[in-house]
Amino acid sequence: MTNDLRERVRGEVIEPDDDRFDGARKLYNGMIDKRPRAIVRCTSVADVMDAVNYGRGLGLPIAVRGGGHNGAGFASCDDGLVIDLSPMKGIRVEPDARTAWVEPGCTQGDVDHVTHAFGLALPAGIVSTTGVAGLTLGGGHGYLTRQHGLTIDNLLEADIVLADGRYVTASENEHADLFWALRGGGGNFGVVTGFRYRLHPVTTVYGGPIFYDISDAREVMRWYREFLPKAPGRFSPFLGLKKVPSVDAFPRELWGRQICALVCCFNGPADEAEQVMGPLRADLPDPLLDGCATMRYPDLQRMFDPLLPSGLQWYWKGDIVRELPDEAVDLHLEHAAKAPSELSLMHLYPIDGAVHSVGAQETAWQFRDATWSMVIAGIDPDPALAGDLTSWARNYWEAVHPYTVGGAYVNFMMDEGQDRIRATYGDNHARLVEVKRTYDPTNLFHVNQNIQT
Ligand SMILES: Cc1cc2nc3c(=O)[nH]c(=O)nc-3n(C[C@H](O)[C@H](O)[C@H](O)COP(=O)(O)OP(=O)(O)OC[C@H]3O[C@@H](n4cnc5c(N)ncnc54)[C@H](O)[C@@H]3O)c2cc1C
Repeated sequence: MTNDLRERVRGEVIEPDDDRFDGARKLYNGMIDKRPRAIVRCTSVADVMDAVNYGRGLGLPIAVRGGGHNGAGFASCDDGLVIDLSPMKGIRVEPDARTAWVEPGCTQGDVDHVTHAFGLALPAGIVSTTGVAGLTLGGGHGYLTRQHGLTIDNLLEADIVLADGRYVTASENEHADLFWALRGGGGNFGVVTGFRYRLHPVTTVYGGPIFYDISDAREVMRWYREFLPKAPGRFSPFLGLKKVPSVDAFPRELWGRQICALVCCFNGPADEAEQVMGPLRADLPDPLLDGCATMRYPDLQRMFDPLLPSGLQWYWKGDIVRELPDEAVDLHLEHAAKAPSELSLMHLYPIDGAVHSVGAQETAWQFRDATWSMVIAGIDPDPALAGDLTSWARNYWEAVHPYTVGGAYVNFMMDEGQDRIRATYGDNHARLVEVKRTYDPTNLFHVNQNIQT
């Protein structure tokens, strides 16, 4: 059946009878197992056009794969066509303009590696193996977000193959409605084949994890909620409730110990960082471990990669958080203490600072007055724990959900249904529906947090 496709594209076409099939269909989240009819590994825009036309012609479900990290497994589908963009890894930095053109198969680490050579960086995620395409289309936050905004706030244009096979560029000046929707609306509108981003000067940073004993967590969380809004954008500490992983990177006596972590990044030299972090040193109890040091930005970005290899079981739920009242702190501590595995965690990622300088209706991402993007993730290598990971994350989420704004970051959602999608886009949902009607009226691209018309 795929002979037609094989003849047209330059990339590999992998079907179930191929020895490579099981490897090629694997997703980052080992909890999700899907069997597509074919996987086409696109090497160019032309391959993407052919793949879209082919899938549409046969009426196949189409899934689009960037880095394959999506928690809900939207990078694949059963009995359909996977358009795998992983071979498309071109990056071109324009140092004078401080911009970069990036292909959709790049991971966060690919982008950091190349931009770092120019003393520049893209504000994006914090784990180097994540795909930059899916991350961008959902919004994208990380250590540079407080200073320079979400990844979408640094997106200048995107090349995209639409459902009817047409290729267009979306920017503020061309297809502005599509450009608006791409900034937060996920993979609903077509296959993005190139992103042009604004970059920022970043060379070395001062950062790393600081671990506090869980008995100090209440004090740390209360301090953190007051400190963060006053902290300069160059400093981004995210907060975690978790256990110390039993790996050599951490002292053996701390392995498995329940902690409250502040994972810090200051974009600048150590002496300036220490000034900003003065209150943290003065006000908080002595930490169990302080791993802050000066390092290359890409090294901080990949610091936690070894803990999170592909294929672990993941079940996560997210929400956007504006405030952290005492009752919410207590619920966090109660539920974090019941974590079913050493890797399970709750993280609060700052999305204040520069994120607030964009209006709620200026992009599809509406949470422009929030403070954190929260994720509660049950994680473990053992598939036998899948049920426990899932029920822990769900129970924890249900307990703290009343203290959130009611919607989540789309990239921290499982397949949770239309009510959650509507809550996430809020007042922007109706406009997303209009853009969907214009660019994908038959909902060809529906393996995603789907905007239904
Ligand atoms: C370990 C880990 C760490 C993470 N850290 C962060 C973080 O720091 N910050 C953050 O913001 N997020 C983070 N995330 C969430 C991340 O943004 C999502 O998992 C995102 O979906 C990953 O993108 P991907 O390209 O790998 O996704 P994939 O699974 O390949 O794709 C996900 C979906 O994105 C869409 N898509 C992907 N590429 C394209 C394209 N070129 N054109 C159209 N649609 C496309 C498709 O709809 C697809 O269904 C993290 C995830 C993990 C697992």
